[in-house]
Amino acid sequence: MKNEVINKLLADRDITLTSLRQEILVILALSNKPMGAYDILNQLKKKRPNAQPPTVYRVLNFFLEVKLIHRIEAQNAYVCCSHASGQASHKAILLLCQTCGKGFEFEDKAIFESIAKFSKKNSIALDDTLIQMNGICQNCLANPAISADTVKRLKHV
Ligand SMILES: [Zn+2]
Ligand SMILES: [Zn+2]
Repeated sequence: MKNEVINKLLADRDITLTSLRQEILVILALSNKPMGAYDILNQLKKKRPNAQPPTVYRVLNFFLEVKLIHRIEAQNAYVCCSHASGQASHKAILLLCQTCGKGFEFEDKAIFESIAKFSKKNSIALDDTLIQMNGICQNCLANPAISADTVKRLKHV
């Protein structure tokens, strides 16, 4: 199971992972929502009781560099990239469920081409920042516990 997860994420990517990196990647890959560095650290401590925050941050920065994960700025959390190929400039749009925290990632060339045109016109240099949009996923919408108000508000948008 764990190897399967890692193999899928590493397909097309020329990366070899140390066992520490593998463990952290598996923790993140098996989580169905974005995780903060300390959530990751707490899970890692089950296997490596001496793990420290800098250890986790170092590995997360490496993953960001090789585009295996995305950082969600607003939440200061991380998610695995759901794309198989690690292109040099990987731009993605992440729809994030505000209720359960699940992320849905997709790529749309046209959207990024428009953004690129706009930024060129206005002389703004863009970085690789992820575009994040908030909403509520279908699962949560189907849940009667989610207030009818929230649903109503969303349907107006
Ligand atoms: Zn991605
Ligand atoms: Zn949800």
